[in-house]
Amino acid sequence: MIKLTSPSEIDSLMRRYDLRFHKRFGQNFLIDDNVLNRIADAAEILPTDAVLEIGPGIGTLTRALSERAKKVTTVEIDTRLIPVLNETLSEYNNIKLINEDFLRLDLSDLGFSSDESIKVAANLPYYVTTPIIMKLLESDLSAERMTFLVQKEVGERLSASPGTKAYGSLTVAARFYADCEKCFDVPASAFMPKPRVDSTVIALTKRPAAYAPADKKIFFTIVKAAFSNRRKTLINSLTGNTPYDRDTLLTALSQASIDPGIRGERLTGEDFAAIADGLADTE
Ligand code: SAM
Repeated sequence: MIKLTSPSEIDSLMRRYDLRFHKRFGQNFLIDDNVLNRIADAAEILPTDAVLEIGPGIGTLTRALSERAKKVTTVEIDTRLIPVLNETLSEYNNIKLINEDFLRLDLSDLGFSSDESIKVAANLPYYVTTPIIMKLLESDLSAERMTFLVQKEVGERLSASPGTKAYGSLTVAARFYADCEKCFDVPASAFMPKPRVDSTVIALTKRPAAYAPADKKIFFTIVKAAFSNRRKTLINSLTGNTPYDRDTLLTALSQASIDPGIRGERLTGEDFAAIADGLADTE
């Protein structure tokens, strides 16, 4: 069986299928067995779990997941990799391979049943990390734990505290749905080809929202607007980047006891929910 973490075996596999690594699909394949096993461990997969993977590449992480789970459903955008995966995964009989753009996929078509215990694990393509994570968080998929290898900077944003440089709309949006735990860092040398940035493994655990804004759409509009220009005060960021006029915004901020002159990065999710509720009352 081909050793998928061996650079020379990857090279000959790619040559055999006349393939090149596609930068536009964020193709950086894992070549470090230790990192691979630590990701599979961090995903806390039980033999009864159904696992969803995004971006199997040549099947490296897929194999490790398949060995631990009841079944693995894996979604790969790059059609050229499908014959490769059919070869590298041929000895694994609990894997369902779907050739699709994960961002266009209707997750209810994945075929998970409501009584299954679902976990997500992926070495994510860096160019679409945030939309993939947000799609999973916003979906009805009842995945308890989602373990991702991401760009270090994204890992820092997901686990940031208010008032820090990394704290932003992604932090607040992700925290709305899940708790985030940083697992461990991964050096660029663990990949082929090497990415220009370091990476980190994070695990998100979905839970009921910690606060419940009356209107989720207004909440997310406010969060996005508050971080649209980090040098501006909160009131100036919200004016022009939301459908509300300055007076309406000032009233909602005053009702929520929030100083309009502070920066958005000082606010917690609860603060944003309070502002959103004040605005929902005006509609
Ligand atoms: N899992 C493999 C590994 O760890 O070696 C490959 C990870 S590589 C960073 C990301 C993979 O995601 C690539 O195979 C790429 O083609 C695939 N990919 C990129 N965009 C995708 C999308 N929108 N939907 C599904 N797969 C995607």
